Amino acid sequence: MIRLSGLKLPLDHPADAIPIALCERLGLEPHELRGHVLVRRGNDARRRNAIQLVYTLDVDVADEAAVLARFANDHDVRPTPDTGYRFVTHAPESWQGKRPVVIGAGPCGLFAGLILAQMGFRPIILDRGKVVRERTKDTWGLWRRGELDPDSNVQFGEGGAGTFSDGKLYCRVKDPRFLGRKVLEEFVAAGAPDDILWEAHPHIGTFRLVSMVESMRRQIEGLGGEYRWQQRVDDLVLEPASDGTQRLRGVVLADGSVIESDHVVLAIGHSARPTFEMLHRRGVHMEAKPFSIGVRIEHPQSWIDRARYGKCAGHPDLGAAAYSLAHHCGNGRTVYSFCMCPGGRVVAATSEEGRVVTNGMSQYSRAEFNANSGLVVGIDPERDYPGGPLAGIDFQRHWESLAYVAGGSSYHAPGQTVGDFLAGRPSTALGSVEPSYKPGVTPTDLSQCLPSFVIDAFREALPVFGRQIANYDHPDAVMTGVETRTSSPLRINRGKDFQSLNVAGLYPAGEGAGYAGGILSAAIDGIKVAEAVAQAIMA
Ligand code: FAD
Repeated sequence: MIRLSGLKLPLDHPADAIPIALCERLGLEPHELRGHVLVRRGNDARRRNAIQLVYTLDVDVADEAAVLARFANDHDVRPTPDTGYRFVTHAPESWQGKRPVVIGAGPCGLFAGLILAQMGFRPIILDRGKVVRERTKDTWGLWRRGELDPDSNVQFGEGGAGTFSDGKLYCRVKDPRFLGRKVLEEFVAAGAPDDILWEAHPHIGTFRLVSMVESMRRQIEGLGGEYRWQQRVDDLVLEPASDGTQRLRGVVLADGSVIESDHVVLAIGHSARPTFEMLHRRGVHMEAKPFSIGVRIEHPQSWIDRARYGKCAGHPDLGAAAYSLAHHCGNGRTVYSFCMCPGGRVVAATSEEGRVVTNGMSQYSRAEFNANSGLVVGIDPERDYPGGPLAGIDFQRHWESLAYVAGGSSYHAPGQTVGDFLAGRPSTALGSVEPSYKPGVTPTDLSQCLPSFVIDAFREALPVFGRQIANYDHPDAVMTGVETRTSSPLRINRGKDFQSLNVAGLYPAGEGAGYAGGILSAAIDGIKVAEAVAQAIMA
């Protein structure tokens, strides 16, 4: 097959326009085209009145070599790559070795566990939270009643941080082995809609993610893997090595029991603060890293659809419109949109008592009234939180606590309309845009709970964004805060063998360790780490 990228056709083109366009593009007679398979479909909406669908297709032609030779210098025409996944090793059938342990059942731990199970290594997967259905009740407990369970919430429990999310499934990591394809295929096998295999910006939405992680759990258990819920890892069993480093021999759970293992995947996510503190105490090599801080901003989805798609707004092939914005400010900061959720809602995402954190989620349909997105400013350890690997956590906690107070000390989020914010006055009431955050929003002054450089940067960026997306800076658009869990505030460094730089047998992985940002990249990292663990066991 030949892979052709960048084939553009107008929105609403008839189905037979594709073979006709293929013949034209590749210089084929109709009888030379045997068929085609859809690989990816996106859209080009830069000209709102002439929106085009953009296809990548695998094309079956009579004389493949001749076509490839004719287009040898055309980067959009290549042989179709082999995207099949191959296991790097398998456990012998009679394998009775010490089982690998995976800490964390988020996307990274889930895929590390799945790949290890598929290779026959029967992993033990530990999570401090609960199975997803019980966790869902606890998460809604915060949203409906303002009751937080610090072990079972938006961040912690089966499925990890991305379970109650928009389920966006794309990332910018280099993926020469097509591991992302393996992730998407496993998701489809577990019940995801199969359009995630070809949509340019696929998403799943919350409800489907819940049943998918259950289905994947059953597969892992069927292969001999084992889950243990409400099992928080509170310590490591370490043995000194002759070169001053340490060797991991197991993990200690909150109840004091020990699980022996020589290979432990640490997939604990970016909110595992007590675990980061424990790892630091135990001398595991780590360093502070940059992340971002800001708010969620909400507009009616119809405003965004109109601004992005003009008269084509609402077209079923386009769906609810997303956006991506960035502005470099005079104060040296960059403001950008983050984790945009079309047709979704803002959610309470704290995992610690007395703190308020925002994030966004949506359902597969993306049919809720508002669009929301993180509006954040990049920060870094040198400038903003010097003082060691854990200083970023102190920084996050500081602003999250102030947000809790500004919201009325009841898990309500502090909110402000864009009109009041730009005028520099506190909000005492909200306008026509009803914020979706639950348990509620307290109109106030967001400068009470964000650094002044963030406030200044927003004041500069919002009017700029308003010129790019009509009504973005509408006085009734509403901002709620604070958005602090954009990525991990630290990196747990690992070497080429995926093991901690100074603790052999410990495999830092996923978002919490600073090696991923989002569901797909965390899952891909989980696969890579599982492969490294399997190869180390077999060596
Ligand atoms: P996590 O998913 O955070 O999983 C870590 C797991 O480790 C948790 O289940 C936790 O309970 C467990 N754990 C922590 N400490 C311990 C311990 N000591 N012992 C035992 N278990 C422990 N990303 C996207 O790509 N698309 C989106 O649309 C999207 N939307 C999001 C919406 C929300 C509301 C949130 C919160 C996040 C969203 N993200 C999204 C980010 C995405 O969820 C994360 O990037 C991803 O989940 C990281 O995966 P992970 O496996 O590395 O860590």
